[in-house]
Amino acid sequence: MRRLMALAGLAAIAAAPPPSPDARLRAIVAPVSQAQLRHTIETLVGFGTRHTLSSQTDPKRGIGAALGWTKAQFESFGLPTVRPCETVTGPRIPNPTRVCDMVAIQLGTERPNDVVIIQGHIDSRVTDVMNFTSDAPGANDDGSGTAAVIEAARVLSKHKFPGTIVYAALSGEEQGLYGGKTLADYAKAQGWNVVTVLNNDIIGNSCSSDGVCDSTHARVLSEGPRSQGQAELAAATHSLGGENDAPSRNISRFLDTLADRLHIGLDVRQIWRTDRFGRGGDHIPFLELGYPAARISVAVENYNWQHQDLRTENGIRYGDTIDHVDFAYLAKMTKLNVAALAAIASAPPPPAPKVEGAVSTDTEIRWNPVPGARAFRVWWRRTDANNWEVSRAHNGVCVFGNVALKEPGCGIVLPHIRVDDWVFGVSSVSKDGFESPVASAVPGGAFKPYVPPVKKP
Ligand SMILES: [Zn+2]
Repeated sequence: MRRLMALAGLAAIAAAPPPSPDARLRAIVAPVSQAQLRHTIETLVGFGTRHTLSSQTDPKRGIGAALGWTKAQFESFGLPTVRPCETVTGPRIPNPTRVCDMVAIQLGTERPNDVVIIQGHIDSRVTDVMNFTSDAPGANDDGSGTAAVIEAARVLSKHKFPGTIVYAALSGEEQGLYGGKTLADYAKAQGWNVVTVLNNDIIGNSCSSDGVCDSTHARVLSEGPRSQGQAELAAATHSLGGENDAPSRNISRFLDTLADRLHIGLDVRQIWRTDRFGRGGDHIPFLELGYPAARISVAVENYNWQHQDLRTENGIRYGDTIDHVDFAYLAKMTKLNVAALAAIASAPPPPAPKVEGAVSTDTEIRWNPVPGARAFRVWWRRTDANNWEVSRAHNGVCVFGNVALKEPGCGIVLPHIRVDDWVFGVSSVSKDGFESPVASAVPGGAFKPYVPPVKKP
């Protein structure tokens, strides 16, 4: 111990080593504030209803006032905003209605086209989804997610990141995921390389109506085989595997590991399902365009407090009111988001690895270099393991060891590792040690929309 302290003293005199990536992430998330989250939800509830069909022009009540206030919050942090809109008609929108999102963009300093998105939906509802006049506080669904978006913007706007962070308050979710579709289309039109979408919807209650409470878990829901490109990939997936390795699934694994490493006070419960049973959310329009996206939500939902008219029946209170929000829990959920945004915006995107090794005692993994990546880490796990188990890193060079690869590019040969028995993946590592999520070397595992190969005539 004494020797260690002496060494530590010497190091301090010479030059203080830079803090580790995890120490930096812990420092970045520390200012997340329960008081700020409460202030945001109080303000949002104060707009009476934020129903998508409510007033867009009333300065005090309705969706327009709520979006305007959100814009002012983003601008007070020094962030520029955009307001993507689409005019929509549908089963739950009888007349053509302009549905707008409020979006702040924190441009990356080195890789501005690599984008990580945090989003929540600002619209609210009561029992009748078409009722746009009754008070619909939506404190938890989804004032909580919107508050996390605004708090993430407040905290992270004080830092600079190589990649871009987008903060989005979406409208039209309850009427049919319109705001998510609008932002996904906007991302595509801008040509953004969307590395990850964190969709926060219902993240602020910790007790359910049956008395079950849980304030120490976050659920992260992710699709297994990618929905976009699934039909084209079906034969390859059937032969080579990858049912459990879409990029969204690897975001889920990344969040699970990150929460453990940073001791946020939350364990991630990975739910291997696109969304809750038979239900949907604003990450789905992104998945449909091939962008990696996951939903973050509470451990236990309370159905008396969602989509309900404010009332008391048989002694039971119904309605999504602010007194049901557990702000200590919401702060932890927000910290998980802030840490993930900072980590992903600090790391280069993962490569798109390929694996070979059929009828061989060795396995070869190859990938193309990634701009901004100083190193890579190759990961593998048993096919029935839920998270990555073994890894090997190498700094500065693409080719690992003295092995001849079959093709040029970055790569590694793993002797005596049988490809049949493992799943392989690769992450990128930045010059200061931030590591991306892992991309699996499976059909459709890349963190990009799947583009089928062009067939030669
Ligand atoms: Zn919701």
